[in-house]
Amino acid sequence: MPPAHTLRSAQALADAGLIAPERLPALERVAAQYAVAITADMAALIEPANAADPIARQFVPQTAELVSAPGEDPDPIGDLTHSPVEGIVHRYPDRVLLKPTHTCAVYCRFCFRREMVGPEGLKTLSPDQLDAAFAYVASHPEIWEVIVTGGDPLVLSPRRLRDIGERLAKIEHVKVVRFHTRVPAVDPAAITGEMVDALKASGKAVYVALHANHPRELTAAARAACAKIVDAGVPMISQTVLLAGINDDPETLGALMRAFVETRIKPYYLHHHDYAPGTAHLRTSIAEGQALMKALRGAISGLCQPTYILDIPGGHGKVPVGPAYLGDQSVEDPQGQAHPYPPAG
Ligand SMILES: *Cc1c(COP(=O)(O)O)cnc(C)c1O
Ligand code: SF4
Repeated sequence: MPPAHTLRSAQALADAGLIAPERLPALERVAAQYAVAITADMAALIEPANAADPIARQFVPQTAELVSAPGEDPDPIGDLTHSPVEGIVHRYPDRVLLKPTHTCAVYCRFCFRREMVGPEGLKTLSPDQLDAAFAYVASHPEIWEVIVTGGDPLVLSPRRLRDIGERLAKIEHVKVVRFHTRVPAVDPAAITGEMVDALKASGKAVYVALHANHPRELTAAARAACAKIVDAGVPMISQTVLLAGINDDPETLGALMRAFVETRIKPYYLHHHDYAPGTAHLRTSIAEGQALMKALRGAISGLCQPTYILDIPGGHGKVPVGPAYLGDQSVEDPQGQAHPYPPAG
């Protein structure tokens, strides 16, 4: 029987049959360090008999998380070094992250903000901190886009999201508001008409970026939730983290990108995994990621092609790290064959 509520502890996972009872003490130690939450929708997708289940691998804690590897960093992409006021990250001139909450609907085992999210993480912004964050945006006319993230902003009530939108509406130089979320897939029932209205409250050009990593996450209910958003005139884009044993094969990754496009979500970023603590077991190499990108390019629609992105450790920004096709005197075709370029005269 799938659970009716979000599972929030190792004990709840054991009770739901998602972890074996003998693993409970060890996984309680993991859960004490990194938050656990699996929504009913995601728990229902897990096949407990499959030790390699790609949904379980994303959300069920593993003892490997307590092992730290060289290069891992509690703040792998330097959020904290670019935070002028609480809840704002300003790394690029024309856009800021606004993080009103550090709560999420699910806690991903690979999260790059795993030391900041969850009940033990950074707190939801107080009214004063939220005022200071909006004052920062209002006083920086170069800020063209506000990216509302967290945590997951769609765990906030429609009333609180509407309040954020209405405050952004008053800042003339902000033209675009982008929400980053997993909620339409992991908790599709939360995408009510009231929620969609709240997302649009700024009156700006609003985008929603859906984070999903495996095609099974795009259930019929998830696709219907996304359709409500897109039908309301809000374009959607995707973001995916490349994860070992979850989506690092061409069939799965291609099926995921097609599922996005079928849902009218334009694939945007495929993120190379960040060096978050205790995540070595989920990491792939850049060479593997480039080979996957080449496989996609050869096989499926151009609409289904994301940009493969590395967020340079230390907070130096995101750069594309996809394969190169153009050599000095030649270009490689999608089947891997080289051709002279410029063409012989
Ligand atoms: C990822 C990120 C953004 C958004 O980058 P885009 O390339 O515009 O999607 C903005 N600010 C910070 C600090 C980020 O980490
Ligand atoms: S939903 Fe996003 S912020 Fe929250 S745990 Fe997952 S990756 Fe991290």
